[in-house]
Amino acid sequence: MFATHPTWKTPLVIAIAGTALAGGLVLLACSGLSAAASTDPSGPTGGVDGLAGVLAGAAGTDAPLEAPGPGGDGSIDDENGIAVDADHAAIAGLAPELRAAVQAAAARAAEEGIELRVTSGWRSAELQETLLSDAIGQYGSESEARRWVDTPERSQHVVGDAVDIGGLEAALWVGQHGSEFGLCQTYANENWHFELAADADGVCPMPYADATDRP
Ligand SMILES: [Zn+2]
Repeated sequence: MFATHPTWKTPLVIAIAGTALAGGLVLLACSGLSAAASTDPSGPTGGVDGLAGVLAGAAGTDAPLEAPGPGGDGSIDDENGIAVDADHAAIAGLAPELRAAVQAAAARAAEEGIELRVTSGWRSAELQETLLSDAIGQYGSESEARRWVDTPERSQHVVGDAVDIGGLEAALWVGQHGSEFGLCQTYANENWHFELAADADGVCPMPYADATDRP
């Protein structure tokens, strides 16, 4: 279900070639993903990122974020996810350190031919509530649903401190290499869910069995 080829390369190479007037920059394009994206003067993301950064700075509190931009509640319709630097509330609402870590990891993974996509990032409390309701219907009980979808009050997504990565190959890559960027799988039952949890030595804590196992 997930694209295995890094399809973003083509427009990125075109964008870079357009500025640099040079070709054959695939390798440069891969390693320069975040730099190219963040310095694009034509992009509308500057102001959004700035505001989101301020909003995300308050992410340590329990105040729900209302990030601006497309996908206002953080919902991602594309089952293949969105690019790690997409102009989308799910990205803009992430804590700046987490967003930077994911983008740095994505740049490294791209060098190995693996494309990291964000299947979920920041989500509004309302969206989280909807997801939990849906999960209760799907799993048949709140206790089972809560193993997979936390409450708006507890969800790390709602405060911008968690990101889900797809596809499977990409998620496994982050599970193996993410700690170099501070990214840790925090729930044993969700190999796609990552938070900035590594210690100063790049060591991740033992994951919780599932969301209900978290204090
Ligand atoms: Zn998650």
